[in-house]
Amino acid sequence: MFKRILLKLSGESLAGESKQGIDTQRLADYARQVKEIAQKGVQIGIVIGGGNIFRGLSGAQQGYDRVKGDQMGMLATVINALALKSAFDAINQPSRVLTSIRMQPIGEYYSHDKAIRLLEEGTVVILAGGTGSPYFTTDTGSSLRALEIKADVMLKGTRVDGIYTADPEKDPTATKFTEITYDEVIRRGLKVMDMTAIVMCRDNGLPIYVFNMDQSGNLAKVINGEQIGTLVKP
Ligand code: UDP
Repeated sequence: MFKRILLKLSGESLAGESKQGIDTQRLADYARQVKEIAQKGVQIGIVIGGGNIFRGLSGAQQGYDRVKGDQMGMLATVINALALKSAFDAINQPSRVLTSIRMQPIGEYYSHDKAIRLLEEGTVVILAGGTGSPYFTTDTGSSLRALEIKADVMLKGTRVDGIYTADPEKDPTATKFTEITYDEVIRRGLKVMDMTAIVMCRDNGLPIYVFNMDQSGNLAKVINGEQIGTLVKP
């Protein structure tokens, strides 16, 4: 069983069917799933994306300055983090928002020591703002924070139940991998996470597990060792 995990949730998955904004039912379900494993003693860091609100790259395509757009994207992740925090509060799950950019009192400024201390006392740590730097994504933020907190694994909760040879929503002949190496993901150009994040996980030996988090109870299954997704490993 994993003792400490980094869970990456994309902003888009928070949006549910509408792909924009925040689906409160989805949010509440994620919070419940996290609480279920927290109660089993798993230490949980969560990196949340912002794609349901704003992405710097799409902003740049619409004429925004890239750096400003990325900063807007990072702020979007903070909005999602606050929504998640409020969902944890509603079910009495202790959690704390740490931000990579100073913005007290919205969240506390991230520090490695603080994150570890909170994890050890059983508080769910929501890591907002990605890396704090433009030209990165929250995938990279996840691999960075996962390595910093020495997570056993990075769990990528998505709406697909693993990594496929092609996009299963577009290609019905696509087949699923149970396991795959980092290099194979890169060679095949599979859209699991951005390349910077994959390479960072590869170079530091951090396993990634991709699974469908939109089905209630799946997070607990992964923690119990059920093979419901795809493992990316050396
Ligand atoms: N972002 C950034 N640096 C980071 C993390 C995020 O500049 O370290 C910006 C970037 O513009 C990105 C946006 O925040 O498009 C939202 O994050 P992401 O696209 O990773 O969200 P997700 O796809 O997971 O919803």
